[in-house]
Amino acid sequence: MKHIRISRKVLLILLAVFFMSVGSLGTVALANYTNIVVEASVVNVRLGPGLSYDMMTQVQGGTVVNVLAEKNEWYKIRLDDGRIGWIASWLVNNTEVTASQNLIATITASNVNVRAENNEEAEIVGTAVQGETFQLLYEESGWSQIHYEGRIAWVLSDLLEISPGTTTPPEAETSVTEEGITESASSSEQSIIISNDAVNIRSGPSLDSEVLLTAQSLETFPYVGTEGDFYQILLPDNQTGYVANWLAELQEANEEIELPKITTLLSEATIVIDAGHGGTDPGAIGSYLYEKEATMETSERVAERLRAEGANVILTRTGDESISLEERVYLSNSYQADLFISIHYDSTPEGVFRTGTTTYYYSDSDMHLAELVNEKLTNNLPLPNNGTAFGNYLVLRENAQPALLLELGYMNNDSDVSTCDSEYYQGLVADSIYQALAEYFQ
Ligand SMILES: [Zn+2]
Repeated sequence: MKHIRISRKVLLILLAVFFMSVGSLGTVALANYTNIVVEASVVNVRLGPGLSYDMMTQVQGGTVVNVLAEKNEWYKIRLDDGRIGWIASWLVNNTEVTASQNLIATITASNVNVRAENNEEAEIVGTAVQGETFQLLYEESGWSQIHYEGRIAWVLSDLLEISPGTTTPPEAETSVTEEGITESASSSEQSIIISNDAVNIRSGPSLDSEVLLTAQSLETFPYVGTEGDFYQILLPDNQTGYVANWLAELQEANEEIELPKITTLLSEATIVIDAGHGGTDPGAIGSYLYEKEATMETSERVAERLRAEGANVILTRTGDESISLEERVYLSNSYQADLFISIHYDSTPEGVFRTGTTTYYYSDSDMHLAELVNEKLTNNLPLPNNGTAFGNYLVLRENAQPALLLELGYMNNDSDVSTCDSEYYQGLVADSIYQALAEYFQ
């Protein structure tokens, strides 16, 4: 009899524990997390946040994936089959981040660390104070995923309270709420993309109408309306014209895809382009041009070219700013860039005449890369090539990432300067770097 009583007591305790755990499970079971749409037609999923990690699988364009965290501009995602991997954030549509649950997390402790991932060792991306509210995206293993200052972040679930509703985030963050998405969709502009070469744009919606101009494949015009088999479009001179609908495609402006059709390794690469000098440091001084101006223009051209191939390009400066050499290297190391290229123009002491370009590297491991880039510069540029050389420069020496420094002509050689100071020359530099990197990242 006594024995049975004890058993009942144990059973009651077990039942209580069981119901308590069911209760807590109930609050954890949130459906769907943070959804992001893959925009490129194929995106590689890697084992870690960077190109150097092995590829585990690929996801097709249009796939919706769940984002768990963010690091080095890569997203940690959960695939349909539960596997976890990483994708380059610039290859997915970042604006489509949606919270499918309308739940608010209110901070209940005084100072709460907001972290990049759901563990105590993860990088702290900010601090939240008592009473602050965030859109709750997902909850897992005692951690709550929130939308924090335009990014995905985590706080300990014990330090917040969950209630239904949506936050009204400032400015750009409106896309997180469902209302925001509707707004941005309704105000979005549509455009017409020409799908053939040499397509006639006419004054009216028929093949007999006068030809106003001829457009080339991939040219894009604002969409005005549809008449019969013709799209009415807005031309650069603000007149309207007509294009046959079988020679063009109607597209939502925010669907415009500047991404490569297939994920190349270059498109997954993070590349730091360093415009030499700047601000109070003019660099070499030419008869009518400072080195800092030439390096900025060239760097912008190179960045544009690599971005067009899908690469994630980070410029160490975007204007006439003073930036220390250490800061430039810090950027490269902190982004774990796949490549750092410093752009410079050369000079010699007075009375010494030199011309042409030189490619510098510091580590032996970057010698092959230097030769590859230098070969393209030799083939493409109108200036003589002085080869590759070891260069003991701080931006190379202190760089943990593959790094090169290019001297692209002599500032104290007027003939070099007049060649270098042109969009044509800088376009050739950009093409050469692109060609070399397309091979390097194969
Ligand atoms: Zn320089």
